[in-house]
Amino acid sequence: MTDHREAAAAAFEAAYGHAPTGVWSAPGRVNLIGEHTDYNNGYVLPFAIDRRTWAAVGVRDDRQLRLRSTFSTYEVVASLDTLDPATMDGWSAYVLGVAWAMQDAGIDLSAASGLDILIDSDVPVGAGLSSSAALECAVGVAFDELWNLGLDKLALARVGRVAENKAVGAPTGLLDQAASMLAEDDHVVFLDCDTEDARPVSLHLRDENLTILVMNSNVEHEHATGGYGDRFASCAKGAAALGVTTLREIGESDLPRAQEALDEETYRRIRHVVTENQRVLDTVATLEAEGPRAIGELLNASQASMRDDFEITVPEIDLACNTAVVAGAIGARMTGGGFGGSAIALVPADAVETIASAVTTALANAGLREPTIFTVTPSQGARRDY
Ligand code: ADP
Ligand code: MG
Repeated sequence: MTDHREAAAAAFEAAYGHAPTGVWSAPGRVNLIGEHTDYNNGYVLPFAIDRRTWAAVGVRDDRQLRLRSTFSTYEVVASLDTLDPATMDGWSAYVLGVAWAMQDAGIDLSAASGLDILIDSDVPVGAGLSSSAALECAVGVAFDELWNLGLDKLALARVGRVAENKAVGAPTGLLDQAASMLAEDDHVVFLDCDTEDARPVSLHLRDENLTILVMNSNVEHEHATGGYGDRFASCAKGAAALGVTTLREIGESDLPRAQEALDEETYRRIRHVVTENQRVLDTVATLEAEGPRAIGELLNASQASMRDDFEITVPEIDLACNTAVVAGAIGARMTGGGFGGSAIALVPADAVETIASAVTTALANAGLREPTIFTVTPSQGARRDY
């Protein structure tokens, strides 16, 4: 198996002609439950996966940021003195956006040195595993250390979110960056997106001999331009009609009133968010009281809500989830923003092969795109590696 830290350092040296000062990394994430609740100030429950983005970084003696990625053929050069989110585009916006977002947050970078940066990653791109947050968080921890900023991980997560919102233009919440920054081995991160309180909750997958299967539909999503923005708008519309700032302020007992006040489609959008928030709270309570084998119905109910009420799933995802459960998964649901991307299934470790092959066969028989199926291990968040 390739040592990615070494590979990133070697690629850095090949590109820039000297060794990097260090290598930092941050993971992709899977959201166990709580979809489209983050920007409604609700609850989410992600974990970091054992796939990471590495940033090999060297200090320069000027104010230039030079960026390269093994993902791309070109080099991007920018000055720390003229960063402007309006002029950022492509993959470099995720990196330059983090430096800009630090300035925007009032952090003084006037004495910060320029940097040479080389990005390498094994997080699949556009698969709903948040390669974007992995990239933002990997450079975020590197910048923090190399520029002596002393920011805590939550502050770095916020900076990554601002980069994604303003430099990339995707109206996402804090979920992805909080997971990539704050995650711990064999835990989920219980994040309240309103108060931004976050705490680890033990998953006990190892003790229970369970694992998580990611079923990538290979249907690509595009957050900045796709239906994600429409759902964001529906939530805002519903909240305004109900006289609240965010949907966090309403619960299941408000649903009859919402049904009266809203058109049918907006009502279903709101019902998803309200019931999904409750499912996150129930999942935390169930994990703590009974352990991971007891959360299957919550996962399945979340999938049904995303499919029928929020309408963000695709046929590949729906069939993969149904098939996984029939073949022995404890529960299965789409994860990520939707319109493609991946689903997860909570499965007994000894049933991985059976379930994966049942899903692949079902999709083939239905004439749907072939999925990529692999297991993930809940892993540690952003860190310095080298
Ligand atoms: P997701 O976060 O689900 O993978 P996004 O569309 O949010 O999908 O982010 C994917 C984008 O992030 C890519 O198109 C690219 O611009 C950037 N990106 C991700 N990984 C890398 C990488 N290793 N090198 C350069 N850019 C990357
Ligand atoms: Mg993303």
